[in-house]
Amino acid sequence: MDPKRPGTSFSNGAVMAGLRVSNLSYNFGAKPALQDISFDVDRGQFCALLGPNGAGKSTLFNLLTRLFTSPTGRIEIDGQDLAKNPRAALARLGIVFQQTTLDLDLTVRQNLRYFAALHGLSGRAADLRIDAALERLDMKPRAAEKARTLNGGHKRRAEIARALIHKPLVLLLDEPTAGLDAAARQAITGHVHDLSAEGTTVLWATHLTDEVRPDDRLIILHQSRILADGLAADISGDQPLADRFLSLTAPA
Ligand code: ADP
Ligand code: MG
Repeated sequence: MDPKRPGTSFSNGAVMAGLRVSNLSYNFGAKPALQDISFDVDRGQFCALLGPNGAGKSTLFNLLTRLFTSPTGRIEIDGQDLAKNPRAALARLGIVFQQTTLDLDLTVRQNLRYFAALHGLSGRAADLRIDAALERLDMKPRAAEKARTLNGGHKRRAEIARALIHKPLVLLLDEPTAGLDAAARQAITGHVHDLSAEGTTVLWATHLTDEVRPDDRLIILHQSRILADGLAADISGDQPLADRFLSLTAPA
């Protein structure tokens, strides 16, 4: 079987993980931000990481991208150990941070060219990748516009396109729809679900239950711990997910 294909299974029935986190903890001084976090996301799976503000979502993303390191636990990105093989692991990773990181004075294409250059791509090879990524997010018509002039949804789509240029196997998005209107949120969640259907492993952090589909994998993070992990439909049971989420995260 092709190990690059999503959901690749082995003869023993195991599925190759796109992302594997084992026993990961992180503290800010005496304050725990993550406590003994473990989960696997299958290759090509869309996994929503749902948690209220302060749950530890961005801390997890900072560890997954190696902005932070932790002496405890282990992270594997498409089979590559992040601590042992950081270059190989990070080469497989695309990231959209919580705060926009576009250069507002550059056009969309210039922003993407700059990122391509950081990955050693230039000239025609870079332009082909940039065109494909912009096309993928329906952003080609905006390529020549300055980032500053884009609306919030288009800025986010430009950032997602940028995160795809080096063809990552695993895509991390930290609250990518924060502050956007309903139509823009729906467009972006749709695009990213399509990417996972085509084989990209996705971890999507959010605090909004309406972005989670019943057939999504769902991890609920609250006060530095995982409270639930499974199929969203199973976790919500006979309740709407919003109610289930509120009851799980309500103060004791
Ligand atoms: P989320 O992204 O889910 O909103 P964060 O990972 O940003 O949560 O924060 C998790 C916890 O860690 C929160 O209690 C937050 O106040 C704390 N925290 C985050 N960043 C820092 C920091 N740089 N210094 C101290 N505490 C922090
Ligand atoms: Mg955050």
